[in-house]
Amino acid sequence: MSLNYGNVFKIQHVRNPFALNPVSFSSLASYLECPGCALEQRRKRRPKEPARFTNARQSTLFGGKGEPDPRLVGTLLHTCINLLHETNGPLSKQQQEALLTDQHMLTGFICYDLLTALREAGKMKLAMFLDELLTRREVLYSALIAPMQRYRRELASTDAIVLAAAERFQFKLVSTRNTFIDHGDRGGAVGLVGEFDQIRLRKKGDVRRPTGVPAIMEFKKGFGRTKKRASGPLTLFPEEMEDEKPADELPGMSHAMQLIIYWMAFQTRWDILDQIAVARGGIEEIRMPLQQELDLIIYNLNDGCQYQLLPTNLREALQAMTNCIFYLDWAMKSGYAQPAAEHECKKTQLIAEVPNPLVEVGYTALSAAECYALARDAFECFKQTVRWEKLPL
Ligand SMILES: [Zn+2]
Repeated sequence: MSLNYGNVFKIQHVRNPFALNPVSFSSLASYLECPGCALEQRRKRRPKEPARFTNARQSTLFGGKGEPDPRLVGTLLHTCINLLHETNGPLSKQQQEALLTDQHMLTGFICYDLLTALREAGKMKLAMFLDELLTRREVLYSALIAPMQRYRRELASTDAIVLAAAERFQFKLVSTRNTFIDHGDRGGAVGLVGEFDQIRLRKKGDVRRPTGVPAIMEFKKGFGRTKKRASGPLTLFPEEMEDEKPADELPGMSHAMQLIIYWMAFQTRWDILDQIAVARGGIEEIRMPLQQELDLIIYNLNDGCQYQLLPTNLREALQAMTNCIFYLDWAMKSGYAQPAAEHECKKTQLIAEVPNPLVEVGYTALSAAECYALARDAFECFKQTVRWEKLPL
């Protein structure tokens, strides 16, 4: 069977994709769960990067129980892994290879050199956080050294080749009459930018594929809060409920969404650059094969476990996600923010008039509420077309 993008959608390579403010995958997922809550989260601005380094006690970098902020730990681990692979970073290729080979050198680097590297890179908040961690050896070990050593061992033992780290991408999904099957040309486009954490060549020991299969690796520090918190019983100590997770928890559907979008992005970043060069950027619509061999993997930094996203029907998964992106984009652009009916939050919200304007959907118009409902339907369809599989350690 041979399929091509012409039957699903078309991708346009662009230089300046954004007219709208960027929206993260987690805010997309949160918008799909409840527009009202997503709006609330958007209002809470994240604090800015501090201008200069200080080693004054940084209690705010640690949570209530003296545990390090998991988000900062995650960012620090990401940054540390990137340092071991990036080509234009502060470490030479020889240094990187040495750190990836020798466990003592890696620990030494974290304890003695990482702080300087972070400060020189202008990552002051992370530097301050690390400075604080360095005074608490046990926490430093469990939060940073142990996961990094696990990462190093895994990479060495699987013989995988890291092709790229922290690789940025941008592309534009164009809605044409070929974008959706059985739909007319709707016009419109959605710009997507992001960053691949890592592209690897995974050796699978398969004689038919001796050179390995490329894989997109996305690093996560756990899989975030489960939905149970929102619908479960109220507790006086909500922070304690976050630890209540089943041992065999799989990544969520927002992670699946992210990886499927990365799948699309990978095609533009890696497969068609030559074609674009030949046409000197003149290509408006580029068709690509669906049968690209590409593994999609989530790596949990907490325990080194890996999870592969396996589309049960890639074509339907891509189509559902494309539908979802377009309807989400239209719903969000319209400012639709009605709290979801089944969401707990509505109990504490004031009754207010929520706008439900007509949205230009290509050449027709839909109400914003319908648009949002279609986005959710598409996301439900998407969920039916993918599954997670935990890879053996
Ligand atoms: Zn809500």
